[in-house]
Amino acid sequence: MRIFYRGRLFIRLIATLFFVGCGNQQIVETDDLEVIKSLCDGADSQTLVIFDMDNVLTESMERAFQADLYPQVKDVVDKFRKRMKKLPLSEQEKLWAGQWEIPVCLVDESMPKLIESLQNRNVKVLMLTANPHGKISNINSIEQLCDSRLRALGINFEKSWPSVDIKHNFDNELTIFYKGEIFTLESKEIALKKFLECLPKHKFRKIIFLDDKRRNLEKVKNLAEKLKKVFIGIEYYRVFTKKRPKTDIFLIKKRLQQLMN
Ligand SMILES: [Mg+2]
Repeated sequence: MRIFYRGRLFIRLIATLFFVGCGNQQIVETDDLEVIKSLCDGADSQTLVIFDMDNVLTESMERAFQADLYPQVKDVVDKFRKRMKKLPLSEQEKLWAGQWEIPVCLVDESMPKLIESLQNRNVKVLMLTANPHGKISNINSIEQLCDSRLRALGINFEKSWPSVDIKHNFDNELTIFYKGEIFTLESKEIALKKFLECLPKHKFRKIIFLDDKRRNLEKVKNLAEKLKKVFIGIEYYRVFTKKRPKTDIFLIKKRLQQLMN
């Protein structure tokens, strides 16, 4: 069942009541942090709240790389990807590193407060991102770069995992756990399943998962179902509705060609 929520206090209340009546595993759509807060109202020490990184916590500060413009610049991006695949690996890495070096900003300025308030209530928060880790060209550690950026923006996932005994490479070369953050090149639900298996002492009763991609939410929902956990998936689409400056697509395409060369 697909549920669509948008709005403030009254709608928030209705949304919460409606959700309560809708079974144990649900996905809702919202661009509103107030709705997310209300869905997290019942979170406690047996709840795991998971945040995707790209386009949920942070987005590129470079206008040309912001998600709402993607449908209009897809042709340029596709051409770049095709060309890139033909390059030697070291050249590909240089281009990726160039994109990683572009600074990021918060999708919603209030997100750090929400995360901190969950941590203050003893709710465990985790970041789960489908991104590589380790060295890429002249960047020594993607995970360090991401972690320091998040901290600079007021988000500290490590605070939730002060004494957790889990290996850096808890699964295989494709996935790492670093300061409360999982970086994986596997499917997110596979990485999460392995992560939960490494934490036998933590019996989470409920999982709340924020992601901008429906397919990630569906897969983690299926995992939660198998593990008999309550699941609230939140398809967060704020990057598409937040106020942006007016943009000249012709200039944006020029800018993209410049950035991807
Ligand atoms: Mg994302």
